Amino acid sequence: MSPRLPKKNISKTEWLVFLIIASATILSFTAIETGARTDGLLHVYFLDVGQGDAQLIEFEGKQVLIDGGPDGKVLSELGQVMPFNDRSIDLVILTHPDADHINGLIKVLGRYEVANILENFLENHKSPAYREWNKLKIDSTVMQAVSGQIIDLGGGAYIKVLYPIAGSSQQAKTNNNSIITMLVYGDNELLLTGDTEARVERELIGREINIDADLLKVAHHGSKTSTTDEFLDSVTPEIAFIQLGEDNNYGHPHPTILERLQSRAIKYYRTDTDGMVELILDGQNYKIVSDK
Ligand SMILES: [Zn+2]
Repeated sequence: MSPRLPKKNISKTEWLVFLIIASATILSFTAIETGARTDGLLHVYFLDVGQGDAQLIEFEGKQVLIDGGPDGKVLSELGQVMPFNDRSIDLVILTHPDADHINGLIKVLGRYEVANILENFLENHKSPAYREWNKLKIDSTVMQAVSGQIIDLGGGAYIKVLYPIAGSSQQAKTNNNSIITMLVYGDNELLLTGDTEARVERELIGREINIDADLLKVAHHGSKTSTTDEFLDSVTPEIAFIQLGEDNNYGHPHPTILERLQSRAIKYYRTDTDGMVELILDGQNYKIVSDK
């Protein structure tokens, strides 16, 4: 596969990130470096976007945003952690096009120069937000996610795509088409699950895909549709992160899920009560800082 160039002319310092497909084909894409922090530490911000998901990964000047929450609040959250004059993001991952993940990303595409997009394109999804997204994304280099892809962040850090599985057909439920990724830096792993439900959890386990991780972004805002006992016993996380809005209409997080975490002594953070939560990795250890 030959490299695709961004349609936009990027006039900032450029560097290459390599996306390595399972077949060892290397697809390189151009990304941009700006004033992002380069302190040798890998930062993951679980942004306080209300009822929705948004995670910003920052490492060695590279920024990856996964989902954008339900509205424009993501912009003020990004403003808190990104340098004032930084108006570019190297890679945006849309896990799936539900409103609580895509709406904020539409605002992000309006405000930031987004060099690359990774998504699981759903031809039959017809929501107005998805139509708008598909119009706005043409200024970025867009790639289809498939298991086995590796996004190399440099310095030993990388993001591996675990789901959707290569060659599999799309699921009926939008949630179950969510991209699942594993962020790895040295001794630590963070599993990022989108809104995938029990069916996908069973599939990953059945296919013996390595989902063991120290840190887990709990799927679907702590809904009881996900995070089965079997899944937690395969991931064996020490810490979990739940992104959700205060007093949300969905009853998230479900008490059963909190009990499952507690019974395994998995400490959890939740953005409705903890505000923005920052995870800091140095390759050997991790620490967590929350707003409240
Ligand atoms: Zn969601």
